[in-house]
Amino acid sequence: MKLFRQILLITAMLAAQAASAADARLPVVASFSILGDIVANVGGDRIAVTTLVGPDQDAHVFQPAPDHIKSVAHAKLVVINGLGFEGWMERVVQSANYRGDIVVASNGIAVRDRVGDEHDDHAGHDDAHHHGKNDPHAWQNPANVVVYTRNIVAALSKLDPSGATVYRKNGETYIAKLNELDRWAMQQFAQFPDVKRKVITSHDAFEYFGAHYQVRFLAPQGVSTDSEPSAKEVANLIRQIRQEKIRAVFIENMSSPKLLQQISKEAGVTLGGKLYADALSQADGPAPTYLKLMRYNIEQLLAQLKLN
Ligand SMILES: [Zn+2]
Repeated sequence: MKLFRQILLITAMLAAQAASAADARLPVVASFSILGDIVANVGGDRIAVTTLVGPDQDAHVFQPAPDHIKSVAHAKLVVINGLGFEGWMERVVQSANYRGDIVVASNGIAVRDRVGDEHDDHAGHDDAHHHGKNDPHAWQNPANVVVYTRNIVAALSKLDPSGATVYRKNGETYIAKLNELDRWAMQQFAQFPDVKRKVITSHDAFEYFGAHYQVRFLAPQGVSTDSEPSAKEVANLIRQIRQEKIRAVFIENMSSPKLLQQISKEAGVTLGGKLYADALSQADGPAPTYLKLMRYNIEQLLAQLKLN
C-alpha cells in the first residue's frame, strides 16, 4: 500500500511539473500561418505560438476578431512579415495595448518592388495587394526564409536569454532543411532550358520565387482574376497560351467545366492545380508546413513545365 501511495505521489508530482512546464512556455504571436510555422520551428518547446491569420485564410483581407486582440495582449513577442503585408497589425497592437517587441522577420532581405501596377485590370488576387510599393511575398524564396529564421533566433534569444542555445540550435537545424530544399529546387529547375521556364498564373505572389529560380511568371492577359473568367477572357487566354507557347497554366478561380474543356481542346492545356501563395493548408492538406508547401508548389510547377 505504501508503494502504491508513493507511485501516486510521484505521478502527481510529474503531472504538476508537466503543467508548470506548459505554462512556462512563452506566448508568441505570428501574423500568418507560414510565419507561425517558421517561428515554431525555432522556438520548439520553449514557446507557444498563436497564429492570427490561419491556414487557408487570406492575410490581405484579414479582419481581426476579439480573440486575435486577446492573443496579442498576452503575447511576449509579436512576429510579422513586414513589407506592407499586415496592414491591419497596427490597429491590432493598439487595441491590445501591446508594448512588447514587434519583430519584422523579413528585415535584411533584398526587397523587390511589387509588380502589377501597370496592369490593374488583371493584377493581383485582390486589391488589398496594392497597399505599399514593396512586394511582401519574400517567403516564396527559401533563401529569404534563412534570413527570417536568423531574425527570429535573435529576437527569441533577446527575449529569453536562457534559451539562446536552444534557439540557435533549432535555427541551424531548420536552416539546413531550407538549404536542402533550395538546392533540390535549383537542380530541378536547372533541367529546363530558359525558354521553357515560363508559367501563366493569376497569382502575383511569385516574384521572389521566379527571380530566385529563373522562372517567368506571366499574368493571364486580359483575364480578370477576381471572378470566373468570361468566354471572351478565356479566348484571350487561349491566344496567349498559343503565342507564348506556354502550357504551364495555373488559374484557380476557373471552375466552369465548359471553359476548362474549351482551354484543353483549343490550347491543348490542362490547368495546373493549386499553388499555395500566402497561407498553409490545413493539417490534412498537401501544404501544412512551409517546407511541405514549397515542395508541393515546386512539384506542381515542374509537372506543368514538362508540358511547355
Ligand atoms: Zn499575397
